[in-house]
Amino acid sequence: MDNRLKNGLRPRPRINVGQANGSVPRASVRASRPSVMQAPVLVLNATFEPINVTAVRRALVLMLKGVAQAEETHTSEVHSSSRAVAVPSVIRLLSYRHIPQQSRALSRKNILLRDRNTCQFCGQALPASELTLDHVMPRSRGGHSSWENLVACCYDCNNRKGDRTPEEAGLQLARRPRPFTLHTSRQLMRLIGHKDEKWRKYLFY
Ligand SMILES: [Zn+2]
Repeated sequence: MDNRLKNGLRPRPRINVGQANGSVPRASVRASRPSVMQAPVLVLNATFEPINVTAVRRALVLMLKGVAQAEETHTSEVHSSSRAVAVPSVIRLLSYRHIPQQSRALSRKNILLRDRNTCQFCGQALPASELTLDHVMPRSRGGHSSWENLVACCYDCNNRKGDRTPEEAGLQLARRPRPFTLHTSRQLMRLIGHKDEKWRKYLFY
Protein backbone atom coordinates (compact mmCIF):
# COMPACT_ATOMS: atom_id res chain seq x y z
CA MET A 1 0.00 0.00 0.00
CA ASP A 2 1.11 3.50 -0.76
CA ASN A 3 2.64 4.76 2.46
CA ARG A 4 1.79 8.34 1.70
CA LEU A 5 -1.82 7.34 1.60
CA LYS A 6 -1.58 5.23 4.69
CA ASN A 7 -0.29 8.21 6.59
CA GLY A 8 -2.93 10.43 5.16
CA LEU A 9 -5.84 8.26 6.18
CA ARG A 10 -7.39 8.41 9.55
CA PRO A 11 -7.39 5.13 11.42
CA ARG A 12 -10.42 3.07 10.71
CA PRO A 13 -12.98 4.19 13.21
CA ARG A 14 -14.78 1.71 15.28
CA ILE A 15 -18.02 1.79 17.04
CA ASN A 16 -16.97 3.02 20.38
CA VAL A 17 -18.42 0.60 22.81
CA GLY A 18 -17.59 2.90 25.64
CA GLN A 19 -15.48 2.25 28.64
CA ALA A 20 -15.21 -1.40 29.25
CA ASN A 21 -16.90 -1.60 32.58
CA GLY A 22 -16.26 -5.19 33.39
CA SER A 23 -14.18 -6.32 30.45
CA VAL A 24 -15.33 -9.42 28.68
CA PRO A 25 -12.87 -12.25 28.94
CA ARG A 26 -11.57 -12.93 25.46
CA ALA A 27 -11.53 -16.64 26.04
CA SER A 28 -15.28 -16.66 26.38
CA VAL A 29 -15.80 -15.89 22.73
CA ARG A 30 -12.99 -17.96 21.33
CA ALA A 31 -14.16 -20.53 18.83
CA SER A 32 -12.44 -23.40 17.19
CA ARG A 33 -13.25 -22.24 13.67
CA PRO A 34 -11.56 -18.92 13.01
CA SER A 35 -13.41 -18.43 9.72
CA VAL A 36 -16.75 -18.35 11.52
CA MET A 37 -15.43 -15.73 13.90
CA GLN A 38 -14.34 -13.54 11.00
CA ALA A 39 -17.64 -13.74 9.11
CA PRO A 40 -19.32 -10.36 8.58
CA VAL A 41 -22.10 -9.19 10.87
CA LEU A 42 -24.33 -6.25 10.03
CA VAL A 43 -24.50 -3.71 12.85
CA LEU A 44 -27.69 -1.69 13.27
CA ASN A 45 -28.11 1.40 15.35
CA ALA A 46 -30.78 1.31 18.06
CA THR A 47 -33.09 2.82 15.42
CA PHE A 48 -32.45 -0.19 13.10
CA GLU A 49 -30.43 2.00 10.74
CA PRO A 50 -27.52 -0.04 9.33
CA ILE A 51 -24.30 1.63 10.45
CA ASN A 52 -21.44 -0.76 10.06
CA VAL A 53 -20.17 -4.22 9.34
CA THR A 54 -18.12 -6.04 11.91
CA ALA A 55 -16.86 -9.59 12.47
CA VAL A 56 -18.65 -12.29 14.45
CA ARG A 57 -15.97 -12.19 17.13
CA ARG A 58 -16.52 -8.49 17.82
CA ALA A 59 -20.29 -8.84 17.56
CA LEU A 60 -20.20 -11.50 20.28
CA VAL A 61 -18.14 -9.22 22.50
CA LEU A 62 -20.69 -6.42 22.04
CA MET A 63 -23.48 -8.86 22.91
CA LEU A 64 -21.70 -10.18 25.98
CA LYS A 65 -21.10 -6.64 27.18
CA GLY A 66 -24.78 -5.93 26.85
CA VAL A 67 -24.12 -3.23 24.26
CA ALA A 68 -25.89 -5.04 21.44
CA GLN A 69 -28.34 -7.84 20.90
CA ALA A 70 -28.71 -10.29 18.04
CA GLU A 71 -31.54 -9.49 15.64
CA GLU A 72 -30.78 -12.30 13.20
CA THR A 73 -28.75 -15.42 13.78
CA HIS A 74 -27.35 -18.34 11.82
CA THR A 75 -28.18 -21.92 12.66
CA SER A 76 -24.59 -22.55 13.70
CA GLU A 77 -23.42 -21.94 17.25
CA VAL A 78 -20.28 -20.96 19.04
CA HIS A 79 -19.56 -22.37 22.46
CA SER A 80 -18.33 -20.47 25.42
CA SER A 81 -17.32 -22.15 28.62
CA SER A 82 -20.86 -22.14 29.95
CA ARG A 83 -23.24 -21.96 27.02
CA ALA A 84 -23.81 -22.13 23.31
CA VAL A 85 -24.60 -18.94 21.42
CA ALA A 86 -26.12 -18.78 17.96
CA VAL A 87 -23.73 -17.09 15.52
CA PRO A 88 -25.11 -13.59 14.91
CA SER A 89 -25.83 -12.36 11.41
CA VAL A 90 -27.32 -8.98 12.35
CA ILE A 91 -26.92 -7.22 15.69
CA ARG A 92 -28.48 -4.04 17.01
CA LEU A 93 -26.98 -1.57 19.47
CA LEU A 94 -29.21 -1.14 22.50
CA SER A 95 -28.60 2.58 22.83
CA TYR A 96 -28.39 5.08 20.01
CA ARG A 97 -24.94 6.10 18.79
CA HIS A 98 -24.22 9.17 16.77
CA ILE A 99 -21.95 7.98 13.97
CA PRO A 100 -20.04 10.65 12.05
CA GLN A 101 -20.52 9.44 8.52
CA GLN A 102 -17.56 11.08 6.82
CA SER A 103 -14.80 9.80 9.02
CA ARG A 104 -16.25 6.33 9.26
CA ALA A 105 -15.94 5.06 5.78
CA LEU A 106 -12.70 6.23 4.24
CA SER A 107 -10.49 3.18 3.94
CA ARG A 108 -8.61 1.39 1.21
CA LYS A 109 -11.05 -1.50 1.40
CA ASN A 110 -14.08 0.72 0.95
CA ILE A 111 -12.58 2.66 -1.94
CA LEU A 112 -11.74 -0.57 -3.74
CA LEU A 113 -15.29 -1.75 -3.09
CA ARG A 114 -16.76 1.49 -4.40
CA ASP A 115 -14.65 1.19 -7.53
CA ARG A 116 -15.45 -2.53 -7.83
CA ASN A 117 -11.77 -3.45 -7.76
CA THR A 118 -11.40 -1.77 -11.13
CA CYS A 119 -8.57 0.55 -12.14
CA GLN A 120 -10.31 3.86 -12.76
CA PHE A 121 -7.89 4.74 -15.56
CA CYS A 122 -7.55 1.61 -17.71
CA GLY A 123 -10.70 -0.23 -16.61
CA GLN A 124 -9.00 -3.49 -15.62
CA ALA A 125 -10.71 -5.42 -12.84
CA LEU A 126 -7.98 -6.85 -10.62
CA PRO A 127 -7.53 -8.59 -7.27
CA ALA A 128 -7.10 -6.13 -4.39
CA SER A 129 -3.44 -7.11 -4.10
CA GLU A 130 -2.80 -5.78 -7.61
CA LEU A 131 -4.45 -2.44 -6.99
CA THR A 132 -3.25 0.64 -5.22
CA LEU A 133 -5.00 3.89 -4.47
CA ASP A 134 -4.24 6.93 -6.59
CA HIS A 135 -4.63 10.53 -5.51
CA VAL A 136 -6.25 12.06 -8.60
CA MET A 137 -4.78 15.43 -7.65
CA PRO A 138 -1.40 14.37 -6.29
CA ARG A 139 -0.74 14.97 -2.62
CA SER A 140 2.44 16.82 -3.56
CA ARG A 141 0.16 19.37 -5.17
CA GLY A 142 -2.34 19.70 -2.40
CA GLY A 143 -4.62 16.75 -3.17
CA HIS A 144 -6.43 15.40 -0.15
CA SER A 145 -7.05 11.86 0.96
CA SER A 146 -10.78 11.91 0.47
CA TRP A 147 -13.48 9.94 -1.29
CA GLU A 148 -13.47 12.56 -4.06
CA ASN A 149 -9.72 12.40 -4.65
CA LEU A 150 -8.91 8.71 -4.21
CA VAL A 151 -9.51 6.04 -6.82
CA ALA A 152 -8.59 2.40 -7.33
CA CYS A 153 -5.63 2.22 -9.68
CA CYS A 154 -3.44 -0.54 -11.11
CA TYR A 155 0.30 -0.25 -10.57
CA ASP A 156 0.95 0.37 -14.28
CA CYS A 157 -1.35 3.35 -14.42
CA ASN A 158 -0.10 4.57 -11.05
CA ASN A 159 3.49 4.56 -12.32
CA ARG A 160 2.51 6.16 -15.59
CA LYS A 161 0.66 8.92 -13.81
CA GLY A 162 3.30 9.69 -11.22
CA ASP A 163 2.91 13.12 -9.65
CA ARG A 164 0.75 14.44 -12.44
CA THR A 165 -2.92 15.09 -12.91
CA PRO A 166 -4.79 12.65 -15.19
CA GLU A 167 -4.91 15.32 -17.91
CA GLU A 168 -1.16 15.88 -17.77
CA ALA A 169 -0.52 12.13 -17.93
CA GLY A 170 -2.96 11.59 -20.78
CA LEU A 171 -5.19 9.43 -18.61
CA GLN A 172 -8.92 9.69 -18.21
CA LEU A 173 -10.99 8.77 -15.18
CA ALA A 174 -13.68 6.18 -15.85
CA ARG A 175 -15.99 8.25 -13.69
CA ARG A 176 -15.79 11.02 -11.19
CA PRO A 177 -15.09 9.56 -7.77
CA ARG A 178 -18.24 9.85 -5.75
CA PRO A 179 -18.28 11.31 -2.29
CA PHE A 180 -19.41 9.23 0.58
CA THR A 181 -23.14 9.13 0.95
CA LEU A 182 -25.60 7.00 2.80
CA HIS A 183 -26.25 5.36 -0.55
CA THR A 184 -22.57 4.43 -0.90
CA SER A 185 -22.58 3.09 2.61
CA ARG A 186 -25.61 0.90 2.00
CA GLN A 187 -24.15 -0.24 -1.30
CA LEU A 188 -20.93 -1.28 0.42
CA MET A 189 -22.85 -3.16 3.10
CA ARG A 190 -24.84 -4.94 0.41
CA LEU A 191 -21.65 -5.95 -1.37
CA ILE A 192 -20.19 -7.31 1.84
CA GLY A 193 -23.41 -9.04 2.83
CA HIS A 194 -24.63 -10.25 -0.54
CA LYS A 195 -24.44 -13.87 0.59
CA ASP A 196 -26.53 -13.29 3.69
CA GLU A 197 -30.26 -13.17 2.99
CA LYS A 198 -30.93 -12.00 6.53
CA TRP A 199 -29.35 -8.61 5.84
CA ARG A 200 -31.78 -7.76 3.08
CA LYS A 201 -34.66 -6.35 5.03
CA TYR A 202 -32.36 -3.94 6.85
CA LEU A 203 -30.65 -2.75 3.68
CA PHE A 204 -33.76 -2.54 1.50
CA TYR A 205 -32.89 -4.61 -1.52
ZN1 LIG B 1 -4.80 0.83 -14.88
